Amino acid sequence: MKPIYFPEPFRIKAVEPLKMTTKEERVKKIKEAHYNLFNLASEDVYIDLLTDSGTGAMSSDQWAGVMKGDESYAGAVGAKNVVNTAKDILGFEFVQPVHQGRAAEKIVMPILLKGKKYAISNMHFDTTRAHVELAGARAIDCVIPEALDTGLKLDFKGNMDNKRLVKLIEELGADNIGVIIITVTNNSAGGQPVSIENIRETKKIADKHKIPVLIDAARYAENAYFIKIREKEFKDKSILEIVHEMFSYGEYFTMSAKKDGIVNMGGLMGTRNAKAFELMKIGCISYEGFTTYGGMSGRDLEALAIGLREGVDENFLRYRIGQMQYLAARLEEAGIAYQSPAGGHAIFVDAKRLLPHIPYNEYPAQSLCIELYIEAGIRGCDIGSYMLGNCPDTKKQLKSDFEFSRLCLPRRVYTQAHLDVIADALINIKGRASKIKGYKIVEEPPILRHFSAKLKPL
Ligand SMILES: *Cc1c(COP(=O)(O)O)cnc(C)c1O
Repeated sequence: MKPIYFPEPFRIKAVEPLKMTTKEERVKKIKEAHYNLFNLASEDVYIDLLTDSGTGAMSSDQWAGVMKGDESYAGAVGAKNVVNTAKDILGFEFVQPVHQGRAAEKIVMPILLKGKKYAISNMHFDTTRAHVELAGARAIDCVIPEALDTGLKLDFKGNMDNKRLVKLIEELGADNIGVIIITVTNNSAGGQPVSIENIRETKKIADKHKIPVLIDAARYAENAYFIKIREKEFKDKSILEIVHEMFSYGEYFTMSAKKDGIVNMGGLMGTRNAKAFELMKIGCISYEGFTTYGGMSGRDLEALAIGLREGVDENFLRYRIGQMQYLAARLEEAGIAYQSPAGGHAIFVDAKRLLPHIPYNEYPAQSLCIELYIEAGIRGCDIGSYMLGNCPDTKKQLKSDFEFSRLCLPRRVYTQAHLDVIADALINIKGRASKIKGYKIVEEPPILRHFSAKLKPL
């Protein structure tokens, strides 16, 4: 199978040197980090695939914008640029910057969920779920069941299960549901896209029951690109036209700009409802800062205004998704299983299938991440039983449906040669897979243990 290749639509003007380590050094470093990749110093990592959030490379235009940033308390130009750009790209009437995605959720969820019991989503991101619960409601995931089958290749594996949505509304009562959240792309299902056809259907159901739709828009541009290449109706539409249509089905949106906004810090929220916007502005002033800066520096607002435009450039998106497809094609060729087809921002390697001899309670995905670090200095992240943790009642290890080693690609940071290092490292590991052992946890905090737990090889 010949890999799909779309070259970088940029050249490199500033470089960040990377420290090269030996295998012996890495064996020592990971032991000192108690086999927890969050404990590694980033300078000891060669290719950092922990997250694509806030880790992108800014363009020369964005850096020029940083210099131009207006730091006035009120009436600053940067905020006006961000708001006008966002209005233009997303087609929303009322837009407010905030410092990151979860800040938007903290403000919007209590407005939507006041006196309500549930939020339903194709899949809640962790912080979205947390803010639904903090607002006193319960978060229900309603992704299509096919998303759970990693080997099944579907164009839109992030879609809402609209049949189940109708049933849920009947069972729970429309009056009890404060919001329907459409997450694009569906991060937790592996960066899988959602089709316009599916969004239209969800919106129709929501309208019938007078439930507002919120778009959780962290990776809206990647989603729009998938729609362009996979949904026939849109093959001749521009990314901007698709983005407009996608957002036209939401009354609200929240956005972490650290992803498709290509900035290191930033977020947005918006609505079409003037009354709700008044409440959002009050929330912003109390939690984030005055409305003309929303918790951001003027320079960062300027960089975001530019990043928003660069993020919807079709050549950029072709290269970006092309990187994922290239890596996926190399894994496919080597018989290494992953959540397929590849999503928009990461490859989720199926550690259950690469290391079938390691049971869930010896953490196969964490074990694979450790091997990747030792093999080539690559840092990924366990999305499996190790991350899931223990049952709060019985204190026993929970068994996750998935054992993924997640490899997120930062935007515009790594070249195709880096991607080859990742693929070659995985191929080497596959060659000695049967000798790789699992791990046990020797120390762990009661919640969110994967950030700080200490492990030992078995
Ligand atoms: C990252 C993310 C968030 C939270 O945004 P932060 O900027 O990290 O606070 C919310 N939803 C989705 C889908 C995300 O990917």
